[in-house]
Formats: sequence, C-alpha cells, structure tokens
Amino acid sequence: KPNAPSLDSYWMPFTANRQFKAAPRMMASASGMHYTTTEGRRVLDGTAGLWCVNAGHGRRQIASAVERQLLDLDFAPSFQMGHPIAFEFAERLAEIAPGGADARLDRIFFTGSGSESVDTALKIAIAYQRSIGQGTRSRLIGRERGYHGVGFGGISVGGLVNNRRVFPQIPADHLRHTHDLSRNAYVKGQPEHGAELADDLERMVALHGAETIAACIVEPVAGSTGVLVPPKGYLERLRAICSKHGILLIFDEVITGFGRLGSSFATDHFGVTPDIITTAKGLTNGAIPMGAVFCSRMVHDALMHGPDGQIELFHGYTYSGHPAACAAGIATLDIYRDEGLLTRAAALEADWADAIHALKGLPNVIDIRTIGLIAGIELASRDGAIGKRAYDVFVDCFEKGLLIRVTGDIIALSPPLIIEPAQIGEIVSMLGDALQRAA
Ligand code: PMP
Repeated sequence: KPNAPSLDSYWMPFTANRQFKAAPRMMASASGMHYTTTEGRRVLDGTAGLWCVNAGHGRRQIASAVERQLLDLDFAPSFQMGHPIAFEFAERLAEIAPGGADARLDRIFFTGSGSESVDTALKIAIAYQRSIGQGTRSRLIGRERGYHGVGFGGISVGGLVNNRRVFPQIPADHLRHTHDLSRNAYVKGQPEHGAELADDLERMVALHGAETIAACIVEPVAGSTGVLVPPKGYLERLRAICSKHGILLIFDEVITGFGRLGSSFATDHFGVTPDIITTAKGLTNGAIPMGAVFCSRMVHDALMHGPDGQIELFHGYTYSGHPAACAAGIATLDIYRDEGLLTRAAALEADWADAIHALKGLPNVIDIRTIGLIAGIELASRDGAIGKRAYDVFVDCFEKGLLIRVTGDIIALSPPLIIEPAQIGEIVSMLGDALQRAA
C-alpha cells in the first residue's frame, strides 16, 4: 500500500510533527466508548486510550471540576506550602488504599506519570532501607518482560532490553518471566502452574546477597508486554521471599489499579499486599497526567525520620499534586464510586472471558489470556517478522472501526470499564473478522 507507515514509525513515537505523516490516524474527539477521527469515522475504543480511560471518554464531571479548579487556584507548589485539594485527594485515595488495618498503604506521594511513580517508588525503597540502617541495600530486582515506563529507574528494572540498550543502567536484575508455563494454554484467569518461578528471587539473593537488595518490583499482571497473568500462588511466594530477606515488594499497578481486575487494585484481587504501589493512568481517567505512589506507614514514617533524625528522602516534582490533576482525580473517584466501576470488571469478567476465548481456533491464534477486563491474544508471526501480522490486524481493525493495541505478536485489549455487553460482542466480531482476513 503506498504511503503506509513503516513498522518502525509505528513502534517509535519520534516527534509529534513526524509521526504517521504519510498515513495519519488522527483522533479529533472522543465520547464514552468511542473516538471520532478527523475524517469523521467512529472507532470503538478497545484499549481505554492507553489503558487509562477507565470511566470512558469526555466525562463532563471531570472537565468541569478541572475548569473550576483552574479558575480557583491554577498552581501552587507542593513544598513549603500546599493546597487543600491535594490533601482532599490523598484522603480519598487513602480510603480505598489496599492492605489490612495494620498494613494499609495509605501514605500517598503524588507524581506526574507512571514513569515518575516508578522512579519515586524505587527511590523510596532505597531511602527506606537506608533509614532503617540497611544502607548497603541499593540493588533493584525487576522481571523479564516487565514494563515500568521510560525513566532511568523504569528502564533499569524493566525487562525490555531495547528500552535500555543505549543507556547506563541503575544496578538491577531481572527475574525470569512467568509466561513460559502458561503459553499455549488459553487460560481464563490465573494459570494453575508456575508459582515456583518466584523462587528465581532466591537465586538473586544467593547471587548478590540479601544485604545488597532494596526492592523487587513487578506488575501483578504485566500489561504492556502482552498481558502476562501470574500463575496461582506466584505473588504470594514472591511476597514471602521478600519478607524473609527484608526486601521491599513493589507492585506496579499503573495498569491494574482502579478497577481493571474488578477491584480497586490488583493487590485486593490477589490478596497479596506489597509495601509500595505505583499508580497513574486510571487515577485521573487519563484526563490530566498524574501518578500516585502508595506506601505503608512503616515505610513513610521511616522516611520522615531517618537515622540522624532528618527527613531521609528529598523528592518532589513541580507538578506533584497539581491542583487541576487533583480535581480531575477526585471527580474520577466520584464517578468510579457512583457508577460502581471499580467492581464492574468482576461482574463482566466471565462474559468477557467467554467472548474473547471464542476467538480460539481462528487462524494463527496461538494463545489467549484473560483476567478482569484485559485480554492478550497471541498470534503466530507472519513470515518470521515479529509483530507484522498483529500490526496488519491492528490497521485492519482501525479501518473497520475498532482500536486495539499490539505489542510484538500480541494483541492487547482493555476497554473502558463502562463497556456494555453488546460492545464486547462488537469487539470480538470486528477482531474475529480481521483475524480471518489476516490468515
Ligand atoms: N508502569 C506500567 C505498568 C505501565 O504500564 C506504564 C505505562 N504503560 C508505566 C509504568 C509508565 O507510565 P507513563 O507512560 O505514564 O510514564
């Protein structure tokens, strides 16, 4: 096809004025479950934007709250002064923070994005260790095929080698990923086998010594790298190993936070409580960039009173707790609460899984994984070129009116949580047709 964007231009964002010049896919507006392109075509959003628009697009309540806030107070720093709305938002988040009564993660640091949340969490972990007299603990453990954004911290613990290829790295190691045992298994929910992969952390401890390791960070369900669902018992085992060796466990819930799995956080869903949680995306329904890091009082209090009586962690961004972002976040939490969206994925999960798994047997579909309102559909490569077939399916779907996401050979779906059952049917039907055409 003449002027089609090359795969390269699809994978890399480059600059805003270069991308897709040849064949732009321009979104002009969005409402509810749909985008409208600049050519006036409606496209069903199968990805909640970029895993973030959980309450659907164009929510007036959020827009109005932001406008009101900008007119009242557009900006004030969050250090040496504050503004009430940041405290209000933190309190609201604390109310839904996971963890039992004695380990609730209700201390909130605000950031501007998922990547900033990850950097913040990693810094908190190292500073916390120092504050309790464990100053040798600076090593970080991530996971192969983990994705934690594109800050230096995130690429270091992230499992995508290409993301850190030309950059110096913060000392980090990577656990073997959890996917091998569930491959080709077409699993709904959690795979039965593979919990012992968590023992890879013991191998790291033996290799480096527990006294060098500050924290281990994992996405409870890896999203951007292809919807990798942890085997039953895996997260519990990771938690136990971390506790045994004094390693902090960080859950990166930038995707799984705010209802994606049918509970406020994946932490609630799996019943495993980490020491720190990173969030962004659904925090403000994607309307205003913002992230938040949740940590336990134990971690927070130690940071505030280091060994020499000083605050241990000097850290904060210009836009930490930005008033407009807090206003968007509070309005978003109101919508989640009033419309029951944080549990909606649980109600839809069985129908979602049945509908998506009906794609099994279509040409080149080699695995399907679903949990909550996420799905990963893995395809056989075309002509040995990784991602080529999935990309063709992506373009085809978009032209027919469905937005999906592809990562390598894997199609990822994560629709807004307001999705109606009939729209699940539409997604499956449009995707099924595209898979047939890509045979
Ligand atoms: N962590 C996870 C688990 C993510 O999925 C993402 C983004 N997809 C990030 C961190 C980075 O977030 P951001 O792009 O907002 O920096």
